[in-house]
Amino acid sequence: MNLTDATHAPDLRSWVTSANAPGTDFPVQNLPLGRFRRAKSDEPWRVGVAIGDEVLDLRLAAQQCPWGDGVHELLQPLADGDLAAFMALGRPAWRRLRAALSAALAEGSDQGPFLELCLVPQAQAEMAMPCAIRDYTDFYAGIHHAVTVGKLFRPDQPLLPNYKWVPIGYHGRASSIGLGGTVRRPAGQLRGAGEVPVFGPSQRLDYELEVGVFVGTGNALGTPLTMAQAEDSLFGMTLLNDWSARDIQAWEYQPLGPFLSKSFATSISPWIVSMEALAPFRRPFTRPAGDPAPLPHLDSPFNQAAGAIDITLEVWLKTPAMAQPVRLSRSNMLDAYWTLAQLLTHHASNGCNLQTGDLLGSGTLSGPAPGQGGSLLELSNGGRVPLQLPGGETRSFLQDGDTVTLRAVCQAPGAARIGFGSVSGTITGAVKG
Ligand code: CA
Repeated sequence: MNLTDATHAPDLRSWVTSANAPGTDFPVQNLPLGRFRRAKSDEPWRVGVAIGDEVLDLRLAAQQCPWGDGVHELLQPLADGDLAAFMALGRPAWRRLRAALSAALAEGSDQGPFLELCLVPQAQAEMAMPCAIRDYTDFYAGIHHAVTVGKLFRPDQPLLPNYKWVPIGYHGRASSIGLGGTVRRPAGQLRGAGEVPVFGPSQRLDYELEVGVFVGTGNALGTPLTMAQAEDSLFGMTLLNDWSARDIQAWEYQPLGPFLSKSFATSISPWIVSMEALAPFRRPFTRPAGDPAPLPHLDSPFNQAAGAIDITLEVWLKTPAMAQPVRLSRSNMLDAYWTLAQLLTHHASNGCNLQTGDLLGSGTLSGPAPGQGGSLLELSNGGRVPLQLPGGETRSFLQDGDTVTLRAVCQAPGAARIGFGSVSGTITGAVKG
């Protein structure tokens, strides 16, 4: 099975010099899309491509550069800042634009002299949400997270019997998804000392290390997706921080799951890394020996051969007292118990219609080792063993002024390294209770 093409060639270089730097997240093999405008300007939002330290402005590129047959039509919604309209066009269109952008940004391209005038330094760009997110669902595909958190709440039965059969998820809140920045500590109902709860600022504020995947083409109501159709519907991925107030969560989560403990903020990274860009990092999807195989509707030869994705994920923390951020954990998406296509297929399996721009969260992606937890809840053993930080500080949960940054990179032999960029959020004082 060959998922890659000329756009993935590891020796492909760009005339944008910074795209050839060894550590860049955005070499010419990546080409993620995001919505931006020049900072402090009032110009209309447009879609751009991250390339090295620059953004290729597709509004200018559509106006000022000659393009091959049909490419102008593909660029038009992007020039207008309407990424969703492009996402709705489907995979042939996504592939065609990727090929055109790859050729145009490659070393020696005769479009280079035109496109040089369409670059904006990323440092001078202001990013916006990539598209309107109508629905957001957060899953629970990280089995090591599920087991560790389950042990804290249910030592006798950490993993409930449905976990290995059905992708667990809940409907999240779309309106409070943003690109990070300032995250206000939520207030809510907390268990008090006696029978009566108290209302006040969360004292157990946490992050969750996740990835998000955007639905490109949706499905009609009443028409489930096959695994192959689900795979084809996925547009691309971002980092996702599912901020979580553990004390609010502990009081409210039974019997219907998380609600206000999660809905106050979710942060995603601004650049959508396409499923095409991730092709060199697809890996066989396997289950541990003795675990059940997925039911037939959640299984396919392609999913077994290439359903998993090798993405290294990191969490960094900077407290106000620190000069430099410190890495809290590193894990890999290969440890997820469900693939993205399985999550989407399951979501549509009852006939629910998924729509262009819908966002699915993976669930916290922790590794099997104790230091690989994708949340402070795991790293501090439920808050009982505070993390020791450089400089003598400790943390069980986040304090005001703390900045959490998620990062992700993909590396594999014979492939160019690509990255997701990052998403950061800084905790500020609580909402007025
Ligand atoms: Ca979550």
